[in-house]
Order: sequence, then structure tokens, then C-alpha cells
Amino acid sequence: MSVLEQFNLDGDTAIVTGGNRGIGKAMATGLSEMGANVVIANRDGEAGQQAADEIASTTDQETRAVPTDVTDEDSVVALVDETVDAFDSVDVLINNAGVAFHKAAEEKSLEEWQTTIDINLTGAFCCAKYAGLEMIDSGGGSIINVSSMSAFIANYPQKHADYQASKAGLEGLKTQLASEWAEYGIRVNNINPGYVNTGILSDDPEERQTWKDEMLQTEFAKPEDIAPLAVYLASDASSYVTGESVTIDGGYTVR
Ligand code: NDP
Repeated sequence: MSVLEQFNLDGDTAIVTGGNRGIGKAMATGLSEMGANVVIANRDGEAGQQAADEIASTTDQETRAVPTDVTDEDSVVALVDETVDAFDSVDVLINNAGVAFHKAAEEKSLEEWQTTIDINLTGAFCCAKYAGLEMIDSGGGSIINVSSMSAFIANYPQKHADYQASKAGLEGLKTQLASEWAEYGIRVNNINPGYVNTGILSDDPEERQTWKDEMLQTEFAKPEDIAPLAVYLASDASSYVTGESVTIDGGYTVR
């Protein structure tokens, strides 16, 4: 198989949580461009359907939206069931859904802490569990968690201890799942972006300038800058890569 052919996803089915906008939409588009059937799983059903229609119209691949809340186990079970009913398998899961709320640790309520952990970490485990059961049945797959460089560093000046903990948690989850599920042919890897220009970023000009001052690149990443790495980790091109975290941050963490 040629190198290019190894990136082909023809006939594969990928679930992308939070695939309706931002990084998730760019990854969903990339997977679809490479031939995958894509299922977009986010809470706002209308936004999900709109993104699915838009992607299908540009790539001509099967694309669906299944309204999903990753913190609700029944909703995740229904997502996986609907995906298998429609496409027979789940070959790729991208755990991308995530939130970030800026508030100092000493002011954060336990409820606020728990909300972030539920979406960013427990939601990823729940989706991995039910997609993983299908992958075990069908002989393998690729799970990709969208973590963050925040898994490894403190962010400044924004304050979000819950976010940092959730992303660090994804590191442990990835390592352990890669180990436990290797025997089933399931690879598990993380993508750790730096600052990407999406709605999750604060629009405070001073904060944004502080971040830019720390970067080797002059601009924040675009969501489309992250998509090729998702295609690589989803495809046979990365068949020997598992249990890894790949930082893609424009050199932010170099200094
Ligand atoms: P966005 O805010 O644009 O996207 C977040 C997505 O998550 C939305 O599609 C949202 O859809 C979905 N979502 C939130 N909560 C839930 C839920 N309970 N169930 C299902 N879907 C949910 O942000 P980004 O694209 O920037 O973020 C995507 C991922 O990338 C996140 O995990 C984030 O932490 C990570 N990341 C982002 C960076 C950045 O600089 N932008 C840097 C490093 C990591 P809906 O509200 O309809 O449910």
C-alpha cells in the first residue's frame, strides 16, 4: 500500500463528539474528505444537522448528526446504537466535546468543577466505553481524545483548575485504555492542541496578546491545522502508534 493510500478512510465510520463547530467540525470534515462516514454528536441537534449537511455537500460522503450529551449514559448508548444501525460499525471515535470556564480555583464551586470533569473527562470515558465495546466486537478501531497542552502546563493568565485536571485526566485514560485494549486491536491516542481560534477562547485582547507573546508562531492555530493529525491517527498511516500524545501548539510549550 502506498503512503497516500494508508491515509484512506473509505468505508470506515467515525463518531466525532462536538463535531458541529470549531476543532471538531474541522476534524469531521477531514475524516469525511478521506472517505469516512461521519456521525456528529453534540447537544444542539439543529447545529449538528447543519454541520452534517454542510460537510456532506462538500465531500459527498454519508454524514449524520445524532444529538448527544456525552454526560448522559443513555444518550451515548443511543449514539453508538444509531451509528451501528446506520453504518454497521464504529471504527473511529474522536472524543472532542469540551468546555472551559474561567474562574479562580478559590472561587470555583464543586458543582462548577464537576460540570467540567463530567463533560471533558467522564464524557470521554463513557463514549470510549460504548464505542470500545463495538470495536472489541468488530476487531479493532482508533480512539482519539482531544486533550490539550493544558494537560502538561499551567495556563496563564486564565484560571481554570478544573479544565487542567480534566485534560490531565485524559492523559491517564488514554494510557490505560491503550494498554487494556491493545489485545482487541484498538489504538488510543491523544491530540494536545495549543491555542486554536474557536469560540472556546476568551476574546479579551490582553489575554490573547499574552498567549501570542509566548508562541513561536505569530497567530493562533486554525481548526483546520488540527484536522490532518486526526486523519493520521484515525487511519492505517498510524497503525504502529498507540498510547501517544501529540502536542500541536505552534511551539507554545517549547519555552
Ligand atoms: P468549541 O466551543 O467550538 O466546541 C466545543 C464543542 O463541544 C461544541 O461542538 C459543543 O456542542 C460540544 N459539547 C460541549 N458539551 C457537550 C456535551 N455535554 N455533549 C456533547 N457535546 C458537547 O471549542 P473547540 O472546538 O475549541 O474545542 C474542542 C475541543 O478542543 C475541546 O475538548 C477543547 O478543550 C479542546 N481544545 C481547544 C483548544 C482551543 O484553543 N480552542 C486548545 C486545546 C484543546 P454543543 O454545545 O452543541 O453540545
